[in-house]
Amino acid sequence: MKAWEANVRKVIPYTPGEQPNRPGMIKLNTNENPYPPAPGVLKALEELDTDRLRLYPDPAASELVNALAEYYRKDPSCFFVGVGSDDVIAMAFQTFFNSEKPILFPDISYSFYSVWADLFGIRYRRPALDEDFRIVKEDYFKENGGIIFPNPNAPTGIYMELDQVEEIIAKNQDSIVIVDEAYVDFAGPSALELVDRYENLLVVQTFSKSRSLAGMRIGFAVGQPQLIKYLNDVKYSFNSYTMNLPSLKLGAAAVKDEAYFRETVGKIVSTRERVKKELSKLGFAFPDSQSNFIFATHKEWPAKELFEELKKEDIYVRYFASPRIDNYLRITVGTDEEMDALLAFLKKKG
Ligand code: PMP
Repeated sequence: MKAWEANVRKVIPYTPGEQPNRPGMIKLNTNENPYPPAPGVLKALEELDTDRLRLYPDPAASELVNALAEYYRKDPSCFFVGVGSDDVIAMAFQTFFNSEKPILFPDISYSFYSVWADLFGIRYRRPALDEDFRIVKEDYFKENGGIIFPNPNAPTGIYMELDQVEEIIAKNQDSIVIVDEAYVDFAGPSALELVDRYENLLVVQTFSKSRSLAGMRIGFAVGQPQLIKYLNDVKYSFNSYTMNLPSLKLGAAAVKDEAYFRETVGKIVSTRERVKKELSKLGFAFPDSQSNFIFATHKEWPAKELFEELKKEDIYVRYFASPRIDNYLRITVGTDEEMDALLAFLKKKG
């Protein structure tokens, strides 16, 4: 090893899902929304004042923050926005997870958490999910330097009821608890309603899933103003975290188009429930997903082979090579037509 290499921060890199973009292909591998952004977003794009691109965007992101504050009926000082929730969470790790004690997150969860922890030199422990892939809440009652978990969890899709989430927050008032709600709009109530009661709670959400804007990179955090101020202090010290002007405009437009948001989320949920029934009939087993994906396994069809066969049909799903989940596929819920194509292939195979 060269001398300088000893000083390189080494991480086991995250492997992003493939992003091919061919006409006619069916892309069910990275949990994007199959429906286009809201009509209000397209209008905002057409009306974008391109001359303004000469100027730096508003570092306080007021237009987007105010739209969120109005939608969620909270004070703007409770919101922090960033370049995708990945960015928001990475910044929260750097800001809040500086204890000598390890932070906690589930062993089967969003794989970026360990990458960031390694990158930022944060110690961590990963309590195991139970046999049914559920988070065991008691594992999070032990001493820690912070907690993060997705709700619903990824890649399982399992939603933890809010009273259990609250127990975890309430029992950890000496550390920050981040609830990563990337998929909560497809599930039950959000922990947003707990924010006023717990100063140690940070809820993170994204525009990449339920709001059809993965390509714009917009995420946000909600917490009491004191927490949000700490995040802003860090953000302003790294100006590269500031969101770009089109994201601010299109994001605000997406929040204002509530009817479209409700309609498309409703369609995805009803497609999901239909596909669950069909997959069951075909012999698949899966946790009861409350998300926009289904984490499925089949007794007779090895997941890796199925993944390759589907790819040949131009249907992309996600396969994880990690032990314990290496016989599972994570299938994003697409449009009814896309899911019918997937089901037709599986029926033919069966
Ligand atoms: N959290 C979870 C659990 C996710 O699955 C994702 C998307 N892959 C993210 C956060 C990040 O989403 P984004 O950066 O697009 O907001």
